[in-house]
Amino acid sequence: MRVLLLGGTADARRLAGLLVHEGHHVVSSLAGRTREPLLPAGEVRIGGFGGVEGLTAYLRDERIDVLVDATHPFAATMSEHAAVACAGLGVPRMVVDRPGWTAAPGDVWHRVASLGEAAAVIPRLGRRVFLTTGRQGIAAFAGLDECWFLARSVEPPDADAPTRLDVVLDRGPFTVDGERRLMAENRIDVLVTKDSGGPDAKLVAARELGIPVVMVNRPPAPPLGPLDRVAGVHAITRVIAEAETRHP
Ligand code: NAP
Repeated sequence: MRVLLLGGTADARRLAGLLVHEGHHVVSSLAGRTREPLLPAGEVRIGGFGGVEGLTAYLRDERIDVLVDATHPFAATMSEHAAVACAGLGVPRMVVDRPGWTAAPGDVWHRVASLGEAAAVIPRLGRRVFLTTGRQGIAAFAGLDECWFLARSVEPPDADAPTRLDVVLDRGPFTVDGERRLMAENRIDVLVTKDSGGPDAKLVAARELGIPVVMVNRPPAPPLGPLDRVAGVHAITRVIAEAETRHP
């Protein structure tokens, strides 16, 4: 099977490894946001396609049998383009299931609709803020001079950033012990995160330390068409293997 895997996540890398191991032709697509991305197994292409039109041409020209959307849940534009291009060509689309987080007893979460809303609620929650929204999200907090920020990202933020900012350059996965230590040492009193789902060490550490969390809700996912399916990483490999058996 010729699989186009829209990536940029750990799930996508894991899935690429499994599919390549099973003998499929996998092209992982990365947006090109990071200078030194972790590369998955199989073929890799980097950079945008040029909107729905460009992606449609790519799917057709490369004779792609199935598109797997394993992008981050906040990569809403890419997912929308994938849904439209696949529907237009009748190419099956599989979306990696990555449930959002749910609050547990002891959690103090403030759910907001956007990074802008997160910036608006922070001053009444704390003054020492741990930002885990990624490099591109840091600009939304640029006007908050009354707060100090610790931002964690894979690469340094752009110029548009809060004036009182320390940056820790790091890439997950993180441990609960490490997160607890980082937040305690920096006297963090509020954590800001997107509702990405997946490993939740920072949320466990915040709960243990009694730190409130500003949780940015996910953008809506595009609706599923008749050929589309949402499934976990292993279920996706099974469905693709079955499809190949039917159409070798
Ligand atoms: P986005 O806003 O949904 O996409 C903007 C444009 O970037 C798309 O229209 C597309 O350009 C290009 N693009 C995005 N993902 C691509 C991919 N996998 N391959 C080729 N082109 C891609 O995306 P984003 O939120 O900036 O995220 C970019 C990438 O970073 C994604 O691959 C995502 O999985 C990863 N990521 C995002 C986040 C996050 O919080 N947003 C967190 C971790 C990882 P064209 O229109 O030209 O095709």
